[in-house]
Amino acid sequence: MVMERTYIMIKPDGVQRGLTGEIIKRFEQKGYKLVAMKLTKPSKEHMEKHYADLANKKFFPGLIEYMTSGPVCAMVWEGKNAVLEGRKMLGATMPSDSAMGTIRGDFCIEVGRNICHGSDAVESANHEIGMWFPEGVCEWTRCDEKSLYE
Ligand code: UDP
Ligand code: MG
Repeated sequence: MVMERTYIMIKPDGVQRGLTGEIIKRFEQKGYKLVAMKLTKPSKEHMEKHYADLANKKFFPGLIEYMTSGPVCAMVWEGKNAVLEGRKMLGATMPSDSAMGTIRGDFCIEVGRNICHGSDAVESANHEIGMWFPEGVCEWTRCDEKSLYE
């Protein structure tokens, strides 16, 4: 079975609002495996590199200011279809479009304070994991894997 890894980040507003545990809980309970995690206050340069594809957007300066305003919780989650499923768990970019039951649908109001990031494709996930965890991730086996997968 092909296992994917996705880069999930709790943004400064999510950390400040005490939502770190709730978001980790959802990924754990879904069955995904946490293979890397750290709390870190990103530099402006690092954040600009992470969001490089949005550099020409009007909201970019505000986005960088917001993302560097405090610590983020950077994580890598692993499992079957983790990239697409992770995006589903986060909900739509615009909280007003996010379904109830998703993280953004349940916990936030505005797009500029939407509490979490998730990779949008396997290729961008690999790029983001390399950027945020150059030291690599932790390989291990969840003891319930036989109950999670056929
Ligand atoms: N963003 C914003 N205003 C917008 C669109 C996006 O402030 O009109 C912010 C928002 O925090 C979003 C981030 O920029 O999560 C990255 O945008 P992207 O389109 O990649 O959305 P995502 O992948 O996070 O759903
Ligand atoms: Mg994106």
